Amino acid sequence: MERALTASLAVWVVFGMGVPASAYAQANEPGPPKIIHRTNPHGVGLSAPAGSTTATSPILNHGGPIILTPTIYIIWYGNWNQSNGSDTPAGQQIVHDFAGTLGGSPYFTDINGSYGVAQALLAKETTDSYSRGTRLRDADVQLVVTSAISSGRLPYDANGVYFVLSSSDVSELSGFCKMYCGWHTAATPTVGHIRYAFVGNPNRCLNACAIQTVGPNGNAGVDAMVSVIAHELDEAASDPDLNAWYDKNGSENADKCAWTFGHAQYQVANGAWANLPLGSRNYLIQRNLFHNLLPPSGPVGDYCMMDGTQN
Ligand SMILES: [Zn+2]
Repeated sequence: MERALTASLAVWVVFGMGVPASAYAQANEPGPPKIIHRTNPHGVGLSAPAGSTTATSPILNHGGPIILTPTIYIIWYGNWNQSNGSDTPAGQQIVHDFAGTLGGSPYFTDINGSYGVAQALLAKETTDSYSRGTRLRDADVQLVVTSAISSGRLPYDANGVYFVLSSSDVSELSGFCKMYCGWHTAATPTVGHIRYAFVGNPNRCLNACAIQTVGPNGNAGVDAMVSVIAHELDEAASDPDLNAWYDKNGSENADKCAWTFGHAQYQVANGAWANLPLGSRNYLIQRNLFHNLLPPSGPVGDYCMMDGTQN
């Protein structure tokens, strides 16, 4: 149930279940619908849930486009040169290294290959020093992207996925830390058709948007952030216009595996858990859904995996 619908009545019907409508009304903003990555249902703790090894309900192809080779663009929003130990140049380096190596990893290519996606590349990064303030609305996030393009700080790229990564002093009023940890969507403003995502630094709400309080790279907020970035990239590649791959409940591939971290976890020197070595770093990221996986990993079906063989 990951689709944030535009009509408040629909939001009430879908998300109702005794929860006050106002709890979700903030997500009901003008602009394109977005697919949210819900907050951690387990709570932050000492171990990350491995998750199920059995097949999920099937994901379905609704006929929309995928992005064969998504290019990653990063907009560092707010102030990433703070003294809080998280919104720092070292924190940016963790994301930079992750985004530069993820797209060629078996995590990305094996699993997203099952949707026809080839690989992802990190293209370019830029900064935005609070052009829309510290309290963003969804429309502000889109303006942050379009102004980066129209000003020439980032190119227009029809295969681009533009990530707005906010420092932890920035709120996103439609529900960051309360309802979601990130989201992605598509729109066609005057710069052209764009796919973009918002991911905030979970340092402001580790209990909601992190799975452990010590990250494998020593930055709990940013170490949690890369897991959300991987999730949104998986989905933006396989369902960029929200009309391609999702299941009967509206869940996209990574939604079906959200907050599960697989059975190949290991501890690194600072005691944090990790499940993905890339380059010189270790990360703990959520699994993604392998569509129509063949034996020997199990009967043909859709499985939450770390790559083509490891669940
Ligand atoms: Zn999602």
